[in-house]
Amino acid sequence: MLTNDQLDTWDRENFFHPSTHLARHARGEAPGRIVRTARGATIVDRDGREFLDGFAGLYCVNVGYGRQEIAEAIAEQARELAYYHAYVGHGTEASITLAKMVLDRAPEHMSKVYFGLSGSDANETNIKLIWYYNNILGRPEKKKIISRRRGYHGSGLMTGSLTGLELFHRKFDLPLDRVLHTEAPCYFRRDDLAMSEAAFVADCVAKLEELIAREGADTIAAFIGEPVLGTGGIVPPPAGYWEAIQEVLDRHDILLVADEVVTGFGRLGTMFGSGRYGLKPDLITIAKGLTSAYAPLSGTIVSERMWKVLERGTDENGPIGHGWTYSAHPVGAAAGVANLRLLDELALVENAASTGAYLTAAMKDALGDHPNVGEIRGEGMLCALDFVRDRDSRSFFDAGDQVGASLAAALLAEGVIGRALPQGDIIGFAPPFCLTRGEADRIVDAMKVAVDTVLPG
Ligand code: PLP
Repeated sequence: MLTNDQLDTWDRENFFHPSTHLARHARGEAPGRIVRTARGATIVDRDGREFLDGFAGLYCVNVGYGRQEIAEAIAEQARELAYYHAYVGHGTEASITLAKMVLDRAPEHMSKVYFGLSGSDANETNIKLIWYYNNILGRPEKKKIISRRRGYHGSGLMTGSLTGLELFHRKFDLPLDRVLHTEAPCYFRRDDLAMSEAAFVADCVAKLEELIAREGADTIAAFIGEPVLGTGGIVPPPAGYWEAIQEVLDRHDILLVADEVVTGFGRLGTMFGSGRYGLKPDLITIAKGLTSAYAPLSGTIVSERMWKVLERGTDENGPIGHGWTYSAHPVGAAAGVANLRLLDELALVENAASTGAYLTAAMKDALGDHPNVGEIRGEGMLCALDFVRDRDSRSFFDAGDQVGASLAAALLAEGVIGRALPQGDIIGFAPPFCLTRGEADRIVDAMKVAVDTVLPG
């Protein structure tokens, strides 16, 4: 086994880490961690230190770490058939079974699933399918995509453009054209504090209508949104938001992509967020919870109405010119089948609902009155604290104060992992669904210590 010094050196000399301050990491100034093993909701680093992972990796290890059933399914698949492609109608028992399991759980009107590797590539697939669809329908001008500020849809060229967070655009020449951004449904962070929640929803809808009128509905193909905003702040939608947005989209014949990379397969305490909020998406993006990250696999679930047009497209133009070598990779598919079975057998979606509600309620009890806690919100196994300099004026800290990063560091010192979300001082939690109430209490206790340390008042 390599020594820690050796690993540190090799890491700094060779490894280009995603979403990392490259210069500080290379100079050895940035805190990193070499993770060795994990069980349930706890990860263990090279030095044997244990951390309660309140973010399930990157909100993805939904069934928890160390599930032997999934490890065995992966090993068995790799031994039997490590790879075969899915082009020109090829398949494996694992990929066909998983497609059926996904459709059995998806909203009624969905028809087929295309498998990719990551949430980003699944959203790239979505955009290509949307453009193809409108070309087949003879609407070559109807191509623009609307997403929301604070939305997160990946970090590819198109998906990084759809992402509504400045960090993902700066110096990358993004967003690309054809992408438009509209208001984020964050009531707490509204500009006009006097506005009621209902008036705020009406304002979001009015801004969307204005954007559509300005650009022309005949140029707009689709709207993409996460049922609950994730990386942009973990923000459940205000009451009535999705119903009102869906009505506008239907009226202008604009497709809806529900990006359920975080919310799919139970994180909100329901199988899909689309069902939770009554959405009728044309495409649903899935990834993380599909395999609980035991293997990389994502998917695009296609509605029956889009599928019919795609079929017509291939009758007119030949096979669809889209695919990755690793689409529907059998090892990923085997992990997905075992993962979805476990989710049912262990009633983990139910636990996400009940223990998630317990976590958010306990957080509110412990910290709801703190002068720097502006809002505590949650839905299912998602919880966030939004920090303010002053509650009455709802003024925020300057970005340079690094309040969010300091809170996450103080939390870590207590042995708990939470995530400082990239825009604003917001600490998010998205634990594995197997979280116990005792572990939820530990997260809350650690958060309280972190707040008392960083913001003593
Ligand atoms: N969509 C949403 C809602 C996400 O949260 C993410 C990742 O966090 C993505 C897409 C991109 O997924 P990936 O990082 O697997 O490319």
